[in-house]
Amino acid sequence: MLDIAAIRTQFPILGREIYGKPLIYLDNAATSQHPQCVIERIADSYCRVNANVHRGVHTLSQEATNAHENARKRVQRFINARHSHEIIFTRGTTEAINLVAHSFGEAFLHDGDEVIVTTMEHHSNIVPWQLLQSRKDIKLRVIPINERGELDMEVFRNLFTERTRLVSVMHASNVLGTINPIEEIIACAHAHGVPVLIDGAQGVPHLAVDVQRLDADFYVFSAHKVYGPTGIGVLYGKEKWLDAMPPYQGGGEMIAQVSFERTTFNELPYKFEAGTPDYVGTAAFATALDWIEATGFEAMKAHEDDLLQYATQRLYEIDGMRILGTADHKTPVISFLVDNIHHYDMGMLLDKLGIAVRTGHHCAQPLMHTLGIEGTVRASFAVYNTREEIDAFVAAVNRVSNMLR
Ligand code: PLP
Repeated sequence: MLDIAAIRTQFPILGREIYGKPLIYLDNAATSQHPQCVIERIADSYCRVNANVHRGVHTLSQEATNAHENARKRVQRFINARHSHEIIFTRGTTEAINLVAHSFGEAFLHDGDEVIVTTMEHHSNIVPWQLLQSRKDIKLRVIPINERGELDMEVFRNLFTERTRLVSVMHASNVLGTINPIEEIIACAHAHGVPVLIDGAQGVPHLAVDVQRLDADFYVFSAHKVYGPTGIGVLYGKEKWLDAMPPYQGGGEMIAQVSFERTTFNELPYKFEAGTPDYVGTAAFATALDWIEATGFEAMKAHEDDLLQYATQRLYEIDGMRILGTADHKTPVISFLVDNIHHYDMGMLLDKLGIAVRTGHHCAQPLMHTLGIEGTVRASFAVYNTREEIDAFVAAVNRVSNMLR
């Protein structure tokens, strides 16, 4: 059992008041808050260590380089990648998917080829493929969902053609909470000789990920959703793919030799990391992963599962409650609507009561279209949330609903 009260004291922001009410932060699927150790690591990097990495012989540069490269090994261990050079640091999930769309797309996708995605994808796993469509005549094939918000695996198995070149799907939905059966998806795609990219933005915060056991070809996620800093993301890719893909951006770090006649590229991972990396961010990200490990990933998950069950059951006590996404396996994310109350009105009034939830289409407009709605109110939980906060949240939703009805 975790001591949640003790965990909460490590998160300074949780002491804030909003409109004179204690902050109840239920927007963790958008970004999670930071424990003191992560904040201190950022300050410490700037106070004691700051120097550009890789190019300096002086002590500060070597220390900064060590911290940055140790962070890469830390991430490697977190997702059990075979090699540390299979970990590419990006600005986030979005940049990681854009990198693959651009670079894998350049090398392996040709006119007439197909990429399989799902109805529930975040825009960051739709638009990069559409950008590629301006250069190559590729097609998106879409796996539909059932009324519970689960993928229709029967349809998925029949979407493969001889032109399928990639399956690119989310581990878990940021709207519905659905945990997709990615083991089955990867096995099925591989049986057709097709590689798989997993958008793990909502997977990594709540599910233990072992990329070798999964046999994922690419797995991408963002640090800021796992208690780490903003502006850092990870592209894990199997060495064989990354080696065969051309660079994404050009500049410093990613080259071996440059002349005006010809440039040769650096080895992995630097081939994909043009320019000065966010080495302060990567160091703090490693601290966040250490913090998760020290807190206990499985215990965190058990607590978050309890919050999900409790909040779901309590929300259904409210008249007119409609929860979107009722899959058996969910991350702690609840999207809902009450009667015909606008999600935006609900979110605004909850804020006045100190409660932070997200409202809108959650960067998943095709999913909203499928559900026949414009948006939802979304509450999402992290390890520092409590049943008492959920009680206050449910009481607030009830109060606001009665006001707006
Ligand atoms: N994919 C999913 C499933 C997400 O939930 C998000 C962010 O909410 C993203 C991608 C984009 O992540 P980022 O904005 O950190 O690049």
